[in-house]
Amino acid sequence: MKFFYISSKANDDNQFLLHNRDCPDLPSKYERDYVGPFNSASEALRLVLTKKENIKICPMCDCNREVYIISQKHEL
Ligand SMILES: [Zn+2]
Repeated sequence: MKFFYISSKANDDNQFLLHNRDCPDLPSKYERDYVGPFNSASEALRLVLTKKENIKICPMCDCNREVYIISQKHEL
């Protein structure tokens, strides 16, 4: 499980980025909304898309995702 946040301010492309808590680009606590715990960013994205539009998974988080899946396998 990872904890996900959505930026409350749109970026230059008018998109809101979905981040996990470990993202190096995570907005400050005043500029993000808590989404909840999910197994993957795509699961979190599915939920936030029911509430908001123009959401994109943060590219920095995408890079982390693969590392996360690998580390999860080690735990099993
Ligand atoms: Zn991010």
